Amino acid sequence: MADFHYSVDGDGVATITWDVPGKSMNVMSFDGLKALGAHIDDALADEAVKGVIITSGKPDFAGGMDLNVLAEMGKAGGDNPAQSIFDGIMDTHHLFRRIERAGMDPKTLKGGKPIVAALPGTAMGIGLELPLACHYIIAADNPKAKIGLPEILVGLFPGGGGTIRLAFKLGAMAAAPFLLEGKAQAPKKMKAAGVIDEVVAPDQLLARAKEWVLNATDADLVKPWDAKGYKVPGGAPYHPAGFPTFVGASVMVNANTWGVYPAAKALLSAVYEGLQVPFDTALKIEARYFTKLIMDPRSGAMVRSLFVNKQALEKGANRPDVPDERVSKVGVLGAGMMGAGIAYVSANAGMDVVLIDASQEAADKGKAYSTGILDKGMKRGRVTEEKKAEVLGRINATTDYAALEGCDLIIEAVFEDMGVKAEVTKKAEAVIPETAIYASNTSTLPITELAKASARPEQFIGIHFFSPVDKMLLVEIIKGAQTGDRAVAKALDYVRQIRKTPIVVNDARFFYANRCIIPYINEGMRLVREGTTPALVDNAARLLGFPVGPLQLVDETSLDLGAKIAKATKAGMGDAYQDDDVDEVVFWMVEQGRLGRKANAGFFDYDEKGKRQGYWKGLGDRFSPRNEQPELEEVKNRLILPQVLEAVRALEEGVLEDIREGDVGAILGWGFAPWSGGPFGWIDIKGAANVVALCDDLEARFGPRYKAPQMLRDMAARGDTFYGAAAGQAA
Ligand code: NAD
Repeated sequence: MADFHYSVDGDGVATITWDVPGKSMNVMSFDGLKALGAHIDDALADEAVKGVIITSGKPDFAGGMDLNVLAEMGKAGGDNPAQSIFDGIMDTHHLFRRIERAGMDPKTLKGGKPIVAALPGTAMGIGLELPLACHYIIAADNPKAKIGLPEILVGLFPGGGGTIRLAFKLGAMAAAPFLLEGKAQAPKKMKAAGVIDEVVAPDQLLARAKEWVLNATDADLVKPWDAKGYKVPGGAPYHPAGFPTFVGASVMVNANTWGVYPAAKALLSAVYEGLQVPFDTALKIEARYFTKLIMDPRSGAMVRSLFVNKQALEKGANRPDVPDERVSKVGVLGAGMMGAGIAYVSANAGMDVVLIDASQEAADKGKAYSTGILDKGMKRGRVTEEKKAEVLGRINATTDYAALEGCDLIIEAVFEDMGVKAEVTKKAEAVIPETAIYASNTSTLPITELAKASARPEQFIGIHFFSPVDKMLLVEIIKGAQTGDRAVAKALDYVRQIRKTPIVVNDARFFYANRCIIPYINEGMRLVREGTTPALVDNAARLLGFPVGPLQLVDETSLDLGAKIAKATKAGMGDAYQDDDVDEVVFWMVEQGRLGRKANAGFFDYDEKGKRQGYWKGLGDRFSPRNEQPELEEVKNRLILPQVLEAVRALEEGVLEDIREGDVGAILGWGFAPWSGGPFGWIDIKGAANVVALCDDLEARFGPRYKAPQMLRDMAARGDTFYGAAAGQAA
């Protein structure tokens, strides 16, 4: 069955309906492009056809391009993938250009057939690039629909003509939020921004499209850039008005990307150069930059982790084969910072929530957290009064464990204390159904140990959230020694319900994410202790693509928490503990009352509103800056390698079972350099042998924490990559 259907009505209006069989959302494939092209050619060749409506047979128009198409294009090119990708993109440009010119005389620009895009709902990526090539875009007034070009968010840019068309249509300045930030909005807002032309009531969509087709004049079909003397709004790059835009945009791109994301820069270059030449040449420039981007290993890594593998994990790539375990009633024990957030995301996803704390006051306070988020949403127009009432109505804040009756999932988030946790486990299990799954949100206590308090350890699991719960996208699921498949399935189904991304790991100290974050923070402290300036430490991290440097990060999470974890870890590890030098910094900071943001004093000074004011000068009194600072590259290596090596060790030890989880988890969990695709992607880009050489050098100079894991050495010896090996295994 084809992705597009074609029909012509009695008035000579052809309708091309996009309706990919077996999918709830249209995505563009190779075959789809071919089918669309064939229908366009039919319509243009058929004298009985007066004009064309392109619409969808689904509630939405399209979700975008099937990104595998790009990979296929590359593979089809054999040893010249770039040429093959470029040719493939140019084929799409030619097709969209055929739509745009619609058979008109190239000189007089007369005699074309009107082609209108009628969008019933969401239209993203190529789902907007195709409409932008039509003569008119009408969208149904559907406030839930999103229209936009989100490619930049996965490390690409719109390469189906969308970059050039939007820049020519709106001007570089007005197009910037859509292109550089991937801003997607509801139809009415996109109409106001000038991206689409008209918004109508959903039941009027096709009738209005037909009316437009039947009344369109020759002039309606001529795109501004095809008309003589068109001047781009806001001015071309060398126009006095346009010039500052590009200076500003260049600054903005570099400020936001710290020079590590190739997509934003390539996009800006395509627009800058494209706006100086005729439209068809501009499309060719877009295709060249797009090809270059696709060939950049960073783009491949980002698409792989942020799109392909993230989706695969969300769809349950590692879910055991047991029946549906969706949650209907969840009990949340502990209504503190985490419990309150967990209650909110659960109720917001439609589950009934029992939120328990030791006092009614604490339980109510936990529920009030949801009220606060919903109120904010209302102020921004995103939440209605009914929605607020509905979500709050689902949360029963109480001290009464009997209310847990009928819960099919418990998530415990009481104090981080073995005894307290064991006690609430017993109290809850006395009430909940025998089939219920019990999860702990602990960040440091072993799940296997906690499960000892449970009468049903195979139904006991870790569901580890990150703070703030409503914002952080990752949830780490931890299997204890006895955790069974149904518990894993329940946790995964729950995470899917709250629309977050899960990774499943085995029980070990700090699980996966925290295990890798701690060495990152620790290395930042060590650098400070050696006399490296704090700005060099944090900026090196930013230049690696991390959202925040280690010192800023520890200010956010607080130094006393660091001290607490250090003490507990030391007690647990005994002689094997290797971080006494780090503790020197941490404990001294705590002694000085420099606890971080919460104390308005940490590595940074803060004003009374909590705004960072620059690094605290007092640090230099104790750890005076060295006259000769280390090279930037060395600081970068010292910050990224400890995290990467910890990820490899986690894999080697079987804590991680799947490199996809290690990579996706790293980006979503602690912002690991997204351009690299994650720690395993980073090694693949660098080459295992180079990473081993780096380890050997740093180990010799800084100690055993840089020792290359055997797995990495073996890989270097074989000349393997992680993803190459994974593909080999899958095959
Ligand atoms: P919190 O101190 O803010 O909240 C704990 C809540 O549990 C308090 O409201 C307390 O009154 C309640 N409580 C204590 N004993 C109880 C009992 N017997 N019955 C019912 N309620 C009881 O702590 P938090 O930051 O929300 O952390 C909770 C759990 O989540 C801990 O295990 C922590 O390790 C884990 N965690 C925290 C973070 C974080 O960033 N804070 C992140 C991930 C996991």
